[in-house]
Amino acid sequence: MKLIFLGAPGAGKGTQAARISAALAIPAISTGDIIREAIRLGTPLGLEFKSYTDRGALVPDDLINALLKERLEKDDCQNGFILDGYPRTIEQAEFLDSVNISIDRVVDIEVDDESIVRRMGGRRFCPSCGATYHTVYSKPEKEGICDRCGAGLSIREDDKPETVLRRLEVYHEQTEPLIRYYGDKILSVNGRGELDAISNEILNGLKK
Ligand code: AMP
Repeated sequence: MKLIFLGAPGAGKGTQAARISAALAIPAISTGDIIREAIRLGTPLGLEFKSYTDRGALVPDDLINALLKERLEKDDCQNGFILDGYPRTIEQAEFLDSVNISIDRVVDIEVDDESIVRRMGGRRFCPSCGATYHTVYSKPEKEGICDRCGAGLSIREDDKPETVLRRLEVYHEQTEPLIRYYGDKILSVNGRGELDAISNEILNGLKK
């Protein structure tokens, strides 16, 4: 099954993509992770990406399209995949169409802006091993310290409050129009419940 997970930044796309990926045995591909990895490695492309992500803007379509296509050509994607955070613009959706990648269903995880701001303000990550935490929903054992490797936790530049507001604006302007673009392929789920309930709603919805 070829799936797209849509939703505002912080709606829980990544969390649900990981769960549904395990349940359906298909890879979850996050363009945000691909971009962060390039930034972490400090490649020329990574440096260019950083100039966009740091201010909450999307990276240019042509740069991310090429990377995504390369990833989808790998063997593990041949039986299906979940795209988490891609497409984010109509142009990216048109790119998928143009390379004959036809999507079966598009899961839209709905969360209101106010809850998003609250959720994202609490996100923390470990700059050393990449583990992620939340000050309310997924606390480390010792405040501010990574359980896995003991390093001090940080806030992603793009999770800072002013950047979150900008990312929400970008989502409403550039990504939300995809809901109309995908029309009856859309499966809308309420992203504000328990994680298990949301995963079940998605899995049941996909059977229909
Ligand atoms: P995410 O972790 O999916 O929220 O992505 C983090 C950041 O990476 C976003 O705020 C964008 O700057 C960039 N990004 C991720 N996916 C895309 C995409 N499909 N198109 C453009 N920019 C993206």
